[in-house]
Amino acid sequence: MAYWNVQLAATLAERLAAVRARIQAAAERARRDPAGITLLAVTKVFPAAAIGEAYALGLREFGENYVQEFAVKAPQVRDLAGARYHLIGHLQSNKSGLAAELFDAIQTVDSPKLAHRLESAGRKLEVMLEVKLSGETAKSGADPAALPELIAAVRECSHLTLAGLMTMPPWSDDPEAARPHFRRLRELAERHGLSGLSMGMSHDLETAIEEGATCVRVGTALFGARRRE
Ligand SMILES: *Cc1c(COP(=O)(O)O)cnc(C)c1O
Repeated sequence: MAYWNVQLAATLAERLAAVRARIQAAAERARRDPAGITLLAVTKVFPAAAIGEAYALGLREFGENYVQEFAVKAPQVRDLAGARYHLIGHLQSNKSGLAAELFDAIQTVDSPKLAHRLESAGRKLEVMLEVKLSGETAKSGADPAALPELIAAVRECSHLTLAGLMTMPPWSDDPEAARPHFRRLRELAERHGLSGLSMGMSHDLETAIEEGATCVRVGTALFGARRRE
């Protein structure tokens, strides 16, 4: 094992314990069962070995942002039984076939066209709808007003299981800044009868859990700073 890996293994265990403790504490404050909150380990930019180390520590749900990048790592993590991979980055329709082959869940469906493309790949997929809550600052995601049409489109797709909504608020180092966005996402999910809420990252997972997150997407707090994006 390379020196780099030994170091990662040592610190990853500690960081994972710290993240789990944060989730636990936030869930207790919100009077929620922590078992209802999935920790999605975001491994973008990190090598496949990072997925292996996290798997060895008990993590099973992994998030990746780029189809191309995961296409390179996927053959190296094929042996990890029970591991599930979620696409959490924007998906262009021309990569939907490859994405459907590589991932178990696509959290960033934001148009009926993309839903139909994924459906035509013919593989069972869990999907979440990415919602744009911050107007012009968000690059991707569906407008809340477009949700009824999008939900109907996904429900017509026999290979797709609709798990809920996902959002990525504008970046702020103040976790409170994200709270209104998280609350809005929960209200939208309730209105449309959806139970899954993917929201909250390393710096604001407590706020997200207080507002009802069922999946927190954590990269930096587990794996350290990324060298690029
Ligand atoms: C990178 C990323 C994350 C993880 O962010 P951290 O701040 O490193 O925890 C979560 N969600 C999405 C959509 C991301 O792109």
